[in-house]
Amino acid sequence: MGKTGLFLVGAAGYISMAVIAGSLALKKGIAKRTGMVTALDAFEGLGLLEPDELVIGGWEIRDFSLRESAMNFLKSMGMPEQELFRQIEEDLAGIEKNIFPGTAAGCGRAIESLASSQCLKDVHLKLQIEKLRADINAFKKDNGLDEAIVCNVASTEPPIEKSPAHDTLESLERAIESDSRQAVRASTLYSYASIAEGCPYINFTPSNAALLPALIEFSIKKRVPVAGNDGKTGETLIKSALAPVFLYRNLEVMSWEGFNILGNMDGMVLDNSENKESKIITKDRTINSVLGYNPHSKVHIHYVPSLDDQKTAWNFIHFKGFLGAKMSLQFIWQGFDSLLAAPLVLDLARLMEFSKRQGESGVMRHLASFFKAPIGVEEQRLFEQMSMLASYIESASIKMQWDSKSAQTRS
Ligand code: NAD
Repeated sequence: MGKTGLFLVGAAGYISMAVIAGSLALKKGIAKRTGMVTALDAFEGLGLLEPDELVIGGWEIRDFSLRESAMNFLKSMGMPEQELFRQIEEDLAGIEKNIFPGTAAGCGRAIESLASSQCLKDVHLKLQIEKLRADINAFKKDNGLDEAIVCNVASTEPPIEKSPAHDTLESLERAIESDSRQAVRASTLYSYASIAEGCPYINFTPSNAALLPALIEFSIKKRVPVAGNDGKTGETLIKSALAPVFLYRNLEVMSWEGFNILGNMDGMVLDNSENKESKIITKDRTINSVLGYNPHSKVHIHYVPSLDDQKTAWNFIHFKGFLGAKMSLQFIWQGFDSLLAAPLVLDLARLMEFSKRQGESGVMRHLASFFKAPIGVEEQRLFEQMSMLASYIESASIKMQWDSKSAQTRS
């Protein structure tokens, strides 16, 4: 296994700061791998890369100082910021030089208003892709990397309407060639550039322009693994574990209402109706898909600035039992959104690097449990999704044993 980079889209955002602070804290031995799925015993034999050895870089559209972003982030987490900050401060400058101005193409007003003058927007789409590809190459060359995994943790874009330009690689490339702005969003350009450079690509956001059918075709052609959409970190994770209870006990869910309040920049962007729509689409599908019918169900998201990264999700489930008796279940989930997300980003980077080494390409369906809207997978029940991951680990381990025995026999 060679030296590997993790290239984050939205590199100064909260999830990125949690990934950066987390991997540095792991390297210095001042944090444990709590929250990382791949730290479970089941993954031990796979020989995954060490998360603290990842070299971090990325794209960002805002003017930022990584030092200040890290300080604000740790403060908002209510963490002993002075101590942790002191320990990681020196390494931040090295990471900052790996962060390049990104593109805000087609991102909508809420995101475009954040963008600095350095970021790409009004340049021909072909030139934007060329610049993004050059950034990846510079990141790899400057840091002596053999591999780079790209993970999109940028603000949620407004959803893109399906168009024939998205159906095939040929039609998408024609749209890019003719600078057809309405056919793409920034996330499309990032994923195209990443796949073109042979980098595994993770879409941790609900932005639906990131992994269009044309780009999945491209990932197969370039023999690159891709995975998405929208990291499953909190409310939807619990829903996907809890909804099967009603199914298995034949209890009729009449309503399942979810109310989310959060105050970070993600919450601020999601307060904008066109951006919010992307999130609600990915959050809304779990219940219907698990139960096989459509109870009254709606996800509400409200921006409450004082909460910062501390998300609160209240769910009210109204259901009917024997003799039509009406009952209810409620839960309240409170968590630091970015600290729930960051270990999963590290897990995904490890698993995607492994898949690339195994020669896998296209959508990594076995990673469905990590996403709210897993591409190409209908299964939304958490335990069934975890079984898909377990089966993958089992067959990958058998294949590795087989390969190593064959190599021994040959030598
Ligand atoms: P954040 O607002 O703190 O960070 C987003 C960063 O992306 C900002 O620094 C912003 O300037 C930057 N950005 C926006 N558009 C960009 C572009 N086109 N190119 C490069 N950079 C761009 O948000 P966050 O809390 O870190 O969340 C990031 C994303 O992950 C959001 O889309 C969110 O919906 C998604 N997500 C978060 C969670 C969670 O638990 N935190 C779970 C699932 C999905």
